[in-house]
Amino acid sequence: MPNITVSIINQSTVVTDDDVGSAVADLQTQVSRDFAPAWGRDAALTFVPSGSQPASGSWWLVILDNSDQAGALGYHDLTTEGLPLGKVFAGTDKQFGANWTVTASHELLELLADPDVNLTAFVQSSDTTGRLYAYEVADACEADNYGYKIGNTSVSDFVFPAWFESFAPSGTQLDQQNQIQNPFQLLPGGYISVFDISAGSGWQQMNGSEAQSRYMSRAHIGSRRERRRTPRTDWLKSEKPLAYSTARGESGTIPAGATAAQPIFKVTGKMSTFGGPLDRGVGPDEGLALFDKPDLHNPQYADLFLPAPPPGTSGLARRLNPQGNYLACRWNFQTTSRAFLRDAQALVVNLQTGKQAYAHPVDFGPDESTGRVADLSPGLAGALGLDTDDHVSVTIAAAREVSAFTAEAISLDATKGHGSANPNSKPPIKEFIASPHHSSRNGAKINMIVLHCTEADLQSTIQEFKSPNGRQVSAHYVIDVTGDIYQMVQDSERANHARGANQTSIGIEHVRRPDQPIAKAQSNASASLVRWLLAEYEIPRTEIFGHDFAPGYDRSQGGTSCPDRLFGDRHTQREVVDWVATNV
Ligand SMILES: [Zn+2]
Repeated sequence: MPNITVSIINQSTVVTDDDVGSAVADLQTQVSRDFAPAWGRDAALTFVPSGSQPASGSWWLVILDNSDQAGALGYHDLTTEGLPLGKVFAGTDKQFGANWTVTASHELLELLADPDVNLTAFVQSSDTTGRLYAYEVADACEADNYGYKIGNTSVSDFVFPAWFESFAPSGTQLDQQNQIQNPFQLLPGGYISVFDISAGSGWQQMNGSEAQSRYMSRAHIGSRRERRRTPRTDWLKSEKPLAYSTARGESGTIPAGATAAQPIFKVTGKMSTFGGPLDRGVGPDEGLALFDKPDLHNPQYADLFLPAPPPGTSGLARRLNPQGNYLACRWNFQTTSRAFLRDAQALVVNLQTGKQAYAHPVDFGPDESTGRVADLSPGLAGALGLDTDDHVSVTIAAAREVSAFTAEAISLDATKGHGSANPNSKPPIKEFIASPHHSSRNGAKINMIVLHCTEADLQSTIQEFKSPNGRQVSAHYVIDVTGDIYQMVQDSERANHARGANQTSIGIEHVRRPDQPIAKAQSNASASLVRWLLAEYEIPRTEIFGHDFAPGYDRSQGGTSCPDRLFGDRHTQREVVDWVATNV
């Protein structure tokens, strides 16, 4: 019996317990038959169905929808006991057409080969320089098409120890499927994290081919690649999972200390349903507390709404997709602001059965006189087996990647701008060309600046931001290569430039191709605009970010290469910080 036990925990809403259960048997074969002889480490896999508890002392492999859900549920870098933890984002895989069982196999084998994410191979290139290669066993042969089948389950190819050994004589088997010819070779679609010890740039990714999907080239929050870049002292233990006795129904309340240590929001009580075309309880033109009409065009919220308004209605409440997972509670907007709730995920638990799912807050309610604490979408209620007046709990857990929004109701335009104490004057705006893609900040204070590269010329950028069709994106400012500044959205409004980071940020676009650095005149204009914004809205200098590095920016759809090469070639926030230090 191997002395390592790995609990395979299913918290996903996109794969069933049956799917996971049958994959686990095949993954066990891969570990014991294929991996253990090559790497000398075996493990016993135990499937933990939703609602059950992982065994104490076990390592965890958690199947989740995406990194947002991981955060909402309190899964971080280590188990609650501080033991190794791996994550599989099955929803993200689905979205990008990848096979979740290949990812599960990939993460499982890497967890076993380097559980503390701290092993490397060193290739020294001179007296003073060299490169560390991360001991990741499935990255070099990552693509689904290099995997193989065990039973009905597709699993990942993986490298052998010899892949990290430069002396390996030709003909040495370097990976399970014998597809790699040379040590350190990357197959197309493969990659490896490397640390150039004299470059000062930390962990970087080397890709096997140019045609790397953006999804794969991003380190997802909580992934091994992200953790390798995070100092060990900053790693977080997971919060305790919900402890429910599923079938017996003996406990109607959450045991003390069994939930997230500090949930941001939690209620327990009776529920009902609301929303969608058939809900005659709401008026045909009734809206939602957390969403406005412009959100219909935001792809981030597309799943919440039906593609067209039901006949005879104009409001958002009846346009909700009744099959979507949404809910309404009597939120306290002082502690959980509208802006925060719009992007939060609430965990809803059927207290009769322990069945649970995530849902998106969309509205305020129900009325106190009903004696209920939550209104759920009909689809969610059905999926959880809930009838009106059944008991539920609704929890929003604290998470590292959720930025706290303050609920201060400050009307910036009313309090600033006239006779302002700003020591810097706003640089001239060549032209205000209004974009329709903006919405209310809902009282949220501006607290950061997000810098972008247009990856397109001035005309097509302005055209795209003006167009009512297409991606429905915008930015507050567009700075041409000549230094001319165009404004397209008022500062007081929220522009659509960095999913999840929009509510409190000002977005500035720089007209450049992805391979071009910022131009001198453009850099000067941008720096003077940033100086004015910092003083005008009392934004700390530390709160200036490249698009991909902005706190709150939702990377669940794969992140972005933006700001591209504007500030350097390495795609790091460090380069942005250096530009600010030198220019602003
Ligand atoms: Zn961008």
